[in-house]
Amino acid sequence: MCQCHNPINCIIPPHMLEVMLLRGDKSVRKMAEGLIKIGDSVREERAASAGSGVVPSAGGGGTFVSMAMAQGAATGHTCYREVYDGEEKASLPGTLARKEGDPATGDAEVDAAYDGAGAVFDLYSEEFGRNSIDGFGMKMLQTVHHRRNYNNAFWNGAQMVYGDGDGQIFQTFTELSVVAHEISHGVVQHSGGLIYQGQSGALNESYADVFGAMTQQRAQGQDVYEADWLVGKGILGPNINGIALRSMKAPGMAYSDALLGKDPQPYHMDFYVNTTSDNGGVHINSGIPNHAFYLYCMYMGGKSWEKPGQIWYKALQQINNPHATFGDWAAQTLDAAIDLYGAGSYEMLMLRRAWNLVGIDA
Ligand SMILES: [Zn+2]
Repeated sequence: MCQCHNPINCIIPPHMLEVMLLRGDKSVRKMAEGLIKIGDSVREERAASAGSGVVPSAGGGGTFVSMAMAQGAATGHTCYREVYDGEEKASLPGTLARKEGDPATGDAEVDAAYDGAGAVFDLYSEEFGRNSIDGFGMKMLQTVHHRRNYNNAFWNGAQMVYGDGDGQIFQTFTELSVVAHEISHGVVQHSGGLIYQGQSGALNESYADVFGAMTQQRAQGQDVYEADWLVGKGILGPNINGIALRSMKAPGMAYSDALLGKDPQPYHMDFYVNTTSDNGGVHINSGIPNHAFYLYCMYMGGKSWEKPGQIWYKALQQINNPHATFGDWAAQTLDAAIDLYGAGSYEMLMLRRAWNLVGIDA
């Protein structure tokens, strides 16, 4: 079973874990080893359930639930969220802690996941006319407090899952850009998919980062110049030298730490990383399309979910090529810009310039 067809989309890339294995003390090495093992077993589980045609864990995906909700009222879309407490255990989904319409629980992780999923639903519904993850009102299922001191978050094909972090290296995973990143992997999966390997995998990662940052910016009402363009700001622990997991404005500059190593993301094709680890560098080379999106937003001004977001979303809906390369994707975004704003338009010409600036002919 090819794991790249049934990936577990983790927020923490394997290169971080590998550096921790080399540099950490005994307890950090044990933690990193454990995370790598858990990742393997979750992937096997998902591959096995995909093979048998069984929807992995949780279930409920795609079920339309009719409930009167505030979200999406203008669009006729209905947001339905369930947040489960994993109680530091491995089994999913755990115990239901908050469902749609319930008041805040006082558990910061439960409430952040609930509010975060609402912000993502609103972005897709109100700006892109999409009704939840699958476009058909799919329930948004999330589990927090997954395993003890678990340093990761992931989309498993059916739901979002967040650890609490160990409080040292990572301190939370329910930060809004991370929540929106994980949910956006679900959107990619339900939009024809981008195989989680090599360039198409890096595009899958980049789409999740772009819409993660966009959700954050929209929730804060920021224009493209006010935004920090960080993914996972505030999730690093107190003693880690870094500001976030990734920076779209300055790929490669998000962190530089004795334990975590240095952010390995390139911002230009000249520095493209050829590697067999991390499914061919999906979390590394995503820096290139991330930076192209950032540059385009700088040209366009305004809000990222306006013209740039419309183009990226339309490109994902139209590309119909799970093996797309960066060049294929750039061409698809240009087609989308032409559809939306016309051939030879300022929007199209600046987009071509943004791709050229990261070393991609478009
Ligand atoms: Zn991801």
